[in-house]
This record gives sequence, structure tokens and C-alpha cells, in this order.
Amino acid sequence: MGTRETYFAADKYRNVEGILRVVRDGLCHRCGACIGVCPVGTLGIDDHAYPKQVDQCIECNICVRACSGLAVDYPALGEALFPGRYQFGTLMGPVRATCVAHAGEPEIRRMGASGGVITQVLAHWLETGRIKGALVAVEDPDEPSRGKGIIARTREDLLRSAQSRYCTAPSFSALYDIRDEDGPFAVVGLPCQIHSLRQRQMMDPRWKQRVPMVIGLLCHYNLPFESTQAAGRMLAPKGERLAHVNFRQRDERGWPHNTLEMTFTDGSKWRSPYGPAQIFNIVARVSPLGRCLMCLDATAEFSDFSIGDPWIRNEKGEWKYDEPGGWSSVIVRTAAAEEWLREVEQAGKLVLKPIPPDEVERGQHAMMTEKKQRTAFRIRLRKRLGRPVPGYPMPLPATSADMRRKEIAFWFTRVIPAFPRLARLMLRLGLSPLGGYFIRRRMKARQRAAASGKHLVSTSDFGDAREKK
Ligand SMILES: Cc1cc2nc3c(=O)[nH]c(=O)nc-3n(C[C@H](O)[C@H](O)[C@H](O)COP(=O)(O)OP(=O)(O)OC[C@H]3O[C@@H](n4cnc5c(N)ncnc54)[C@H](O)[C@@H]3O)c2cc1C
Ligand code: SF4
Ligand code: SF4
Ligand code: SF4
Repeated sequence: MGTRETYFAADKYRNVEGILRVVRDGLCHRCGACIGVCPVGTLGIDDHAYPKQVDQCIECNICVRACSGLAVDYPALGEALFPGRYQFGTLMGPVRATCVAHAGEPEIRRMGASGGVITQVLAHWLETGRIKGALVAVEDPDEPSRGKGIIARTREDLLRSAQSRYCTAPSFSALYDIRDEDGPFAVVGLPCQIHSLRQRQMMDPRWKQRVPMVIGLLCHYNLPFESTQAAGRMLAPKGERLAHVNFRQRDERGWPHNTLEMTFTDGSKWRSPYGPAQIFNIVARVSPLGRCLMCLDATAEFSDFSIGDPWIRNEKGEWKYDEPGGWSSVIVRTAAAEEWLREVEQAGKLVLKPIPPDEVERGQHAMMTEKKQRTAFRIRLRKRLGRPVPGYPMPLPATSADMRRKEIAFWFTRVIPAFPRLARLMLRLGLSPLGGYFIRRRMKARQRAAASGKHLVSTSDFGDAREKK
């Protein structure tokens, strides 16, 4: 143990070589931040969305000190952002208030992943001059199975960014585009991306002024883009390629009834016969999940406010916030977030409904617990095996026997990517009508279990996890 700085005392990771070593050591989660914070543009993005050297390095070491793939000092970040209020190990991080919310504009609500809250608030702040722009993720036109970052300065840019892209998106490379501007800018990111930005902000207060509003997404794990790319190649008509991926195409029933939809270069479409949780559970077996398996943050603990889906069921086992337009669940963490959100609500652009924090937690309890307990187990094991692990200079949570059992069962599926033929076979089977039949049966059994009250069903974006009451 020790502080984040003592972790680097060994000088093992330094400057551009250090970043390339993070990648080689399997610690990079492809957030793109090192590219974005480098003051002289030394780094670019390679074909696999990892950083690569494209120019001379001036050896300032800023990239390494910001890199959250390499290390995150949760207690230090917590103390800096939430003095006296942060304790590592809670499931949701610091909470001021919790609510469900949806966009006031029907168009934005419809376009959003859940309630369209992120796109709506950004559009309002942009239109009222609160912000000059926002860092968001859009589909990468060169490789539709992955995302890229842009600084959205118009409503059109923002509408392009609505929706969840469950894929590698080194979007924080776009921080480079605002390095000389005063701001204020808002930033939307996954927990790991926010760690990198906050670490940069701790080094240089100008980054705090430039980015006064950080919106976090809840995150169980991300799909490596190679998985979707492989599925796209398998499903594309002969001679065609993937042109567009909608990870959550809503059907006529609206939220939460959506499926993965792929559009190919001839205009033809493939729609998954079942929802994202099921399809991602299949597609995620194709490529290793890598650094996501060592990530401890489920809720973007260091954001100003975090957003997810309201996966909350009522006593009958039905979704409590099942409205076709959709709702988002919101964890408000800072006074600034409270004030900025209130402004959008008062302008009639946001509908907010307070709910108790334990309701939000109950909705994703299994996912949140997994990110703390099972991740800690993995990290301890990797350490024992002498494998590189991220620098987390704080005691990690204990892992219950039940979590250990689940983790060991999970290993059997995680070896699949090591056998590419088996992975392709799995993918083919999972996407076939036979695979669909078995998956639908399993989904019905889960619904029955939820309705019978035997289980609390907690569904994250990538799968249901059940806990005995
Ligand atoms: C990889 C991933 C995993 C997630 N896991 C969970 C989960 O386990 N549980 C849960 O409740 N919610 C999860 N979410 C969040 C959820 O899918 C919705 O994004 C959230 O509810 C916000 O919905 P909205 O309608 O308010 O946002 P919208 O208005 O649709 O805006 C979405 C915003 O997300 C940004 N974005 C989309 N994809 C990415 C990406 N890959 N990287 C960075 N930014 C991106 C866009 O820039 C956009 O600004 C995840 C999201 C992602 C991208
Ligand atoms: S110039 Fe600084 S930030 Fe850029 S790669 Fe080199 S050490 Fe990293
Ligand atoms: S900052 Fe992000 S993209 Fe760069 S090496 Fe670290 S984890 Fe990878
Ligand atoms: S699981 Fe962690 S490392 Fe992976 S994408 Fe989500 S926040 Fe980033």
C-alpha cells in the first residue's frame, strides 16, 4: 500500500514509454485520456483504439499521472472532491440526492438510452450559454462497432451523441481539442474516464475551471469493440460491411424493450431477437474483457452526477418505471449538479421525481456488489500470480463465499476468447434461432422467479443477477 505517487516511485512507468507499457501490461481500458491530456500531441489512437506514439515526447509524465488504467487513488480523489464525505467501499459513492428523471422534450426522450436526461441537460446548458460545449461519444464513422469522442458545440452534435454505445470508445482523447480553451465545458464519461480526468484536474486547477461539470454513466463493463465487429462480419450479407450499430433500438413498446440492431452497407438490417442484456452476454464471450475486470467503480463515484437505467422492480416483479418514453435514474453528488439540474427543471426541460437512495441501490445491487467484491478477489488473485494489477492504494473489500463461487463459475466462460474457433461457434449458436429459443426460455424463468417474490432481480445492462432474499 502507499499513495498513488509512491506507487510510481519505482519509475517503472514513465512518459510515453510508460503509457505503452500500460497497454502491454493489459492495464489499459482504452479511455483515450492520455491522448487528450498530453500537452503536445505525442499520442494518437491505433487501429485497436489503444494509444500509440505519433510524435516526440517532452517527458512531462502528465499522461502517466492521469492514467486511471495504471492507478486510481480512490481515497485521495474522494477527499479532494467530497471533503469529509467520501469513504471507499460503499456501493454508490457520495450521494446528495437520488431521483428518476426524463427529458422534457419528447424528441430527446425518445432518442435517449433511458430517459434522455444527459442529452437534454446538455442541450439546455448549451442553448442558455451555461457551457461552451460538451465532450460526448458518437459512433466512429470509420469503424461503426466502436465510438469516438467529439466536443459537441451544437444541438445537432448532441443529438448525434444520444444513446449508449456499449463498445470501446476512447472518447477522452477529445480533451485535446479543448486544452487551450477556458470553458466552461461539460464532460460525459464512464467511471474509468472520469478517474483519468479527475487525476488530471488534481494536478492542474485550470482543468477544473475548464470542466466544471462531469456527468458519469453507471457501468458494469464495456464490450470490446472487437466483439461487435466479429458479430457484424458474421451477420453481414456477402460482400457487405457494418455501416451502423444501434445498441438499443427501441421497439414500439418503448423502454426497456430494445434490441441490438446492425445496419449493413447495402441498407439491410439485422435485429437481435432478444434484448441487450442477453445479446451482450453472448457477444461479450468473443473477446477478453481485459481491464474492465479489474475496475472497482460501478457508479462513477467521482462525477458531479451519475446516470443509469432505473432497473427497479415492484412487488409484482414488474419494472416500476416502465413507461414507453423511459426514465433515467440519477445520483446527484455535488451542490453544483443540484443547482444546474434544478435550472433545467425550472425551464420545463426536465422532469424529476425524487426516490430514496436505497431504491436506486436495490435496482443494481448485484452489479454494484460484483464490482467491489468480485473485482477485489480477481485483483488479489492476479497479484498472487505475479500479473500486473492497477495501483489501488487502499484496502480492497472482502469477498463473500457466494461471490467467490460466482467468480469461479465465471472463469469457465472467460476462457472462451482464448479459443477463437470456440468463440466463433458460441457466437454463431447464440445468434441462431436455437440459441434464441434457449435464451427466451431462460428469460421467462427469470421473470417468473421475480414475480414469485423468491428473488430480487437486479438487472444491469449486461445481464441479470439474482440474489436470494
Ligand atoms: C458501456 C456502458 C455501460 C453501461 N452500464 C450500465 C449499467 O450497468 N447500469 C446502468 O444502469 N446503466 C449503464 N449504462 C448507462 C445507460 O446505458 C445510459 O447511458 C444511461 O441510463 C443514460 O441514459 P440517458 O438516456 O439519460 O442518456 P442519453 O441522453 O442517451 O445520453 C447518453 C450519453 O452517453 C454517452 N455515451 C454513450 N456511449 C458511451 C461510451 N461508450 N463511452 C462514453 N460515453 C458514452 C454519450 O456521449 C451521451 O452523451 C452504461 C452505459 C455505457 C455506455
Ligand atoms: S509529452 Fe508528456 S503527456 Fe505527452 S506523451 Fe510525453 S510524457 Fe506523456
Ligand atoms: S489513459 Fe486511458 S487510454 Fe491511456 S493508457 Fe491509460 S487507460 Fe489507456
Ligand atoms: S468497467 Fe470500468 S474500466 Fe470498464 S468501461 Fe466500465 S468504467 Fe471503464
